[in-house]
Amino acid sequence: MNIKEGIRVIEGFPTPDISFKDITTLIGDKDLFRQTVDEMTAALDFTPDVICGPEARGFIFGTAMAYKIGAGFVPIRKPGKLPYETISSSYSLEYGSDTVEMHKDAVKPGQKVLICDDLIATGGTLLACADMVERLGGVVAGIMALIELTDLPGRKLIEERGYKLYTLVKYDH
Ligand code: AMP
Repeated sequence: MNIKEGIRVIEGFPTPDISFKDITTLIGDKDLFRQTVDEMTAALDFTPDVICGPEARGFIFGTAMAYKIGAGFVPIRKPGKLPYETISSSYSLEYGSDTVEMHKDAVKPGQKVLICDDLIATGGTLLACADMVERLGGVVAGIMALIELTDLPGRKLIEERGYKLYTLVKYDH
């Protein structure tokens, strides 16, 4: 079975217009989970010092990759979850805005960083993560999402900012 076949697509969740890409079926399969992390790791052409992943699904792939590579892992969270001093970045959604936070000492100046999430749609989440990493002096050496929605402008926005985007599985909506 390939990785895409392991992802369950739920039409109309959580709102009628969304085709939700459910990775729980993928990670619940021991062989496919390992294959996915192996392929994500093999796709990189650099070795990060640290992998930053936004909650919650960025933790799943980010920590597994970090363990395999021998890199550190930095959690990026919704506001109010992290116990120490944080920096934050806000980005706009179709209606309203969202904010992510990370500890202000989580990335050291000059560290080579991979930012990793399960999916890139508009790119807002990953760009907000990249913004924080750079404000801390980290070098965003790459951005990885297992899944790319190609009908949305995520890749264009990431590449316009000069970042390299790695994705493994593509859907056109
Ligand atoms: P964005 O910031 O628009 O690139 O959205 C990416 C974040 O929203 C990721 O953390 C995804 O887990 C989640 N997400 C957005 N669209 C979907 C979708 N169609 N299926 C599953 N997760 C999604």
